[in-house]
Amino acid sequence: MTRIFLSSPDMSGTEERYLVNALRSGWVAPVGPDLDAFEREIAERCGTAHAVGVSSGTAALHLALLALGVGPGDAVIVPTLTFAATANAVVYTGAEPVFVDCRPDDGNIDASLVEAVVKQEKIKAILPVDLFGSCADYTALAALEVPIIEDAAEALGATHAGRPAGSFGRAAALSFNGNKIMTTSGGGMVVTDDEWLARRCRHLATQAREPVPHYEHADVGYNYRLSNLLAALGRAQLSRLDEMIKRRRQLRERYAERFAGLPGVRLLGAGDPGANCWLTAIVVDPDEAGWQAHELGAHLDRHDIETRPVWKPMHLQPVYRGRRAWLTGAADRLFATGLNLPSGSAIRDPDRIFAAIDEFLERR
Ligand SMILES: *Cc1c(COP(=O)(O)O)cnc(C)c1O
Repeated sequence: MTRIFLSSPDMSGTEERYLVNALRSGWVAPVGPDLDAFEREIAERCGTAHAVGVSSGTAALHLALLALGVGPGDAVIVPTLTFAATANAVVYTGAEPVFVDCRPDDGNIDASLVEAVVKQEKIKAILPVDLFGSCADYTALAALEVPIIEDAAEALGATHAGRPAGSFGRAAALSFNGNKIMTTSGGGMVVTDDEWLARRCRHLATQAREPVPHYEHADVGYNYRLSNLLAALGRAQLSRLDEMIKRRRQLRERYAERFAGLPGVRLLGAGDPGANCWLTAIVVDPDEAGWQAHELGAHLDRHDIETRPVWKPMHLQPVYRGRRAWLTGAADRLFATGLNLPSGSAIRDPDRIFAAIDEFLERR
């Protein structure tokens, strides 16, 4: 029996064809027609004027922050409930992350708490995360009039108030890491409407080389560009994005049906019509349910089915101990009671997951 993972890459003959064509074209470096086309296609999907293909989502966050002018002495608001890369990118620039707690219903950053923070502290930028593929509340966050960089690493294809993820704030970062909704094996993109910002990111991503015949540098640059080969893979994945989102959504609906009516069990972010359903998580109140999320996780693991607690909050991470944090306890509770379930579009035998869940619930 093969292990069922949370979110593994979903490849088809289309990817093979695009990749082989790119290889045969000779454009194997981080420059070429597939990279240009991939940037155009992603910008179109996100509803932005510009896109810059880079080597990872983390690199995209780093460049977007640098282009915004974030640096030493600055404070940037980061949700505490996120993957470490969000906070790390802030630290790379020399700025300080200020962690802010989340809403209990969907785990996204608590906009009213952000409002309280920006009234009391000098904040250079807000870096909201679109958690597990549900957009943060940009309607409330935009009203605060602090520059926003959107961490849309998990949210390509999602929408908020009818607008696509990636279109909020001054710029957004996408990730094409192997476990994301679509992948280039590794890769990312900065998307923005701001032409200067896009040009600055492109410049910094290519070692900040000045446009003269010899090697001339006025800035410390980075080697962050995306390979043309991987961009070809990305174009193939993008052509299948809607189909892959549909499969993830169907899986989420099936989880919703299975857990409906069970006391103390809910789906995190249930009812967001704009979610891309990257990862589905359940939240289990052990007093009401009579069982704990991690017990279901252990049971599924014995059936060779992967699950994972929701992100361990940044303020609990050893590396970020002692940093400033504005907390309500919501992220702590979600970490203690939440479980990400297998959500990938490449899962071919979901019946196995549901049989194992049935077995667990029948024994309770
Ligand atoms: C995956 C992820 C990243 C980092 O993307 P990489 O491509 O792996 O560098 C950043 N932020 C969030 C919220 C993520 O989930």
